[in-house]
Amino acid sequence: MLRDSYGRVATDLRVSLTDRCNLRCTYCMPEEGLDWLGKPQLLSDDEIVRLVDIAVRELGVTELRFTGGEPLLRPGLVDIVRRCAALRPRPRMSVTTNGVGLERTAEALRDAGLDRVNVSLDTLDPEVFRRLTRRKRHADVLRGLEAAHSVGLTPVKINTVLMPGLNEDEAPRLLEWALERGYELRFIEQMPLDAQHGWTREGMITAEDILESLGRRFRLTPEGERERGSAPAERWLVDGGPARVGVIASVTRPFCRACDRTRLTADGQVRNCLFAREESDLRGALRSGAGDEEIAELWRAAMWGKKAGSGLDDPGFLQPQRPMSAIGG
Ligand code: SAM
Ligand code: SF4
Repeated sequence: MLRDSYGRVATDLRVSLTDRCNLRCTYCMPEEGLDWLGKPQLLSDDEIVRLVDIAVRELGVTELRFTGGEPLLRPGLVDIVRRCAALRPRPRMSVTTNGVGLERTAEALRDAGLDRVNVSLDTLDPEVFRRLTRRKRHADVLRGLEAAHSVGLTPVKINTVLMPGLNEDEAPRLLEWALERGYELRFIEQMPLDAQHGWTREGMITAEDILESLGRRFRLTPEGERERGSAPAERWLVDGGPARVGVIASVTRPFCRACDRTRLTADGQVRNCLFAREESDLRGALRSGAGDEEIAELWRAAMWGKKAGSGLDDPGFLQPQRPMSAIGG
């Protein structure tokens, strides 16, 4: 198992398939993009499947989430999903995507064995979308969402980040819209993980702001600790339920105590936390011929050293060197 020195056990593996992206969300990366990893640095499809196999067979991983960058840009995605679905014990699998191009691939992903998708959508206004993502792809994302829902990649979850002066007033409208369509909406507090280091605590919309804004339109009742488990989202029943809304308050109400995540970057580094400043190199071990047990041991050691918390509230907090898009959000 992937246990850490605080007794937490990681069963949920986030695999970043690429650091590249076709959008440029302001809270994530600069207009000009970043210095992308080169092909030789990226894990190959075979290397990814081998590491996932070790994770499910030897290390107790049961949940697999493909992310990035934009995972739909990875040419081998459908094949990777198919091969991971054949592993035993079979992990549950989802993809976190910006939804661009999902319309074309949703069915193939489902046929390959994908269980669900999380689609990021911050606004219902195409012009606000253009300002937030610096691309005119709003209609694409909406079509991608519909396709995912209609082929049964459900429940379709939507991730929304609110930004001051852009979409901060959209929470109630987004929730109403999502509920009408059967999507599960979760708001994520903006975190200091942007490549430009532009985040400030004063400039972010907090969970409290979001709940206040939603509370003006809906009656929200907390779902409770038991249902939350290790899920980062705190959930509220909307107008008595069964409809729900989630808020991932990674900054103001962190869930580190119950964290069950382990992360693999597109270049084969294990990270035990989004905010970790250290990584453990599995790619080097893979490419120098290490056996499964040796790799599993490196992974266990990487997780054992996980810190108690993200350190966001420490006066000496330092943002990790890699941005979210390169770690895998
Ligand atoms: N490109 C895909 C997408 O946007 O869904 C997957 C990668 S993206 C890094 C994963 C999630 O992280 C998205 O929901 C995005 O909104 C969120 N995200 C990116 N930067 C963030 C930040 N600085 N704070 C909070 N969430 C962020
Ligand atoms: Fe791309 Fe996702 Fe980052 Fe937006 S949040 S720039 S879609 S990686």
